[in-house]
Amino acid sequence: MSWWPAALAGLGAAALSARFHWWRPRLAGAPVLMYHQIVKELDRTPLPKLRVPPRALERQLAALERRGYRVSGLSGALAAAPGAKAAALTFDDAFQDFADNAWPLIKARGMGATVFVVTGQIGGSNVWDQGKGIPSVPLLSAEEIAELAAQGVEFGGHGHAHRDLTSLSPQELADDLGACQEVLTGLLGAPARSFAYPYGLFNDEVKQAVARAGFHAACATRPGLLTGRTDPLAIPRVIVKRSDTAWDFALKLTRSKSRW
Ligand SMILES: [Zn+2]
Repeated sequence: MSWWPAALAGLGAAALSARFHWWRPRLAGAPVLMYHQIVKELDRTPLPKLRVPPRALERQLAALERRGYRVSGLSGALAAAPGAKAAALTFDDAFQDFADNAWPLIKARGMGATVFVVTGQIGGSNVWDQGKGIPSVPLLSAEEIAELAAQGVEFGGHGHAHRDLTSLSPQELADDLGACQEVLTGLLGAPARSFAYPYGLFNDEVKQAVARAGFHAACATRPGLLTGRTDPLAIPRVIVKRSDTAWDFALKLTRSKSRW
C-alpha cells in the first residue's frame, strides 16, 4: 500500500521531533559555549554531563571551523559585528585539565577561550563540590593562570568562594566579588572584565554588585544565543554535555538547545 511508507516516515519524524529541536527555527546570534572539565575519565562523578572528553572537544572545534565560525573568548564574541559568525568558548571553575587537555587543542586552531576562576581556590580544588559525591579535582595554579594569560587565554571571575550569590547579604556579596576582582587584577595586571555566576544563579542585586566590582559582562547558564540585544550581565549560554552527538552540537549552535 502506498500510504504505508509515508505513514512510517511521519511516525519517525514525529518521534524525532518529540526528542530533538531540529524543526525549531534557527536563532540569530553567537553561541557562547559552556564547558567545565575536559577529561575522558568519569571517576564515579554524579555529574558526568559536565565532563567532555578531549576527543569530543576536538570534533566540536573542527565543526565550528568547518561551519565558518570565528571562535574566541567572550570578549571577541561581544565585540563581533552584528551578523558576524562568531562563537565563544567558556570554561567554568578553571580546572587544571583546561591547561592539559583543552587549551592545546584550542590554541592549535588559532581560537580563543575565557576561563572563569574561583579566586579563593586558585591552586586548590573544587571544595564547593565536596559532600555531594563529586570527586576532588585540581584547579589551575596562579603560575598556570599567568602563563595561559600570556598565551592569550582570557580570565574572568567565578566568585571568590563559588557561593550562590543570591543567598548572600549585601555585605557578603560585595566582599566576595571585591575579593574575586582584587585577586584577578593582581594576577592579570588589569581588572578582569567578565564573570560567570556560580551555579548560574543571579538576580538584580547580584547583577548590580557584579558591575560595581568592575565586571562588564556576566554569563548565566540559561540557554540562548548572544545578540546585540542581550543584557551583557545576563549572557545566555549553550551548555555542551558529554552525551552530545555531532547532531546535538550542530543543533545547539543555531538553536541553543538540541533536545527536550
Ligand atoms: Zn562553577
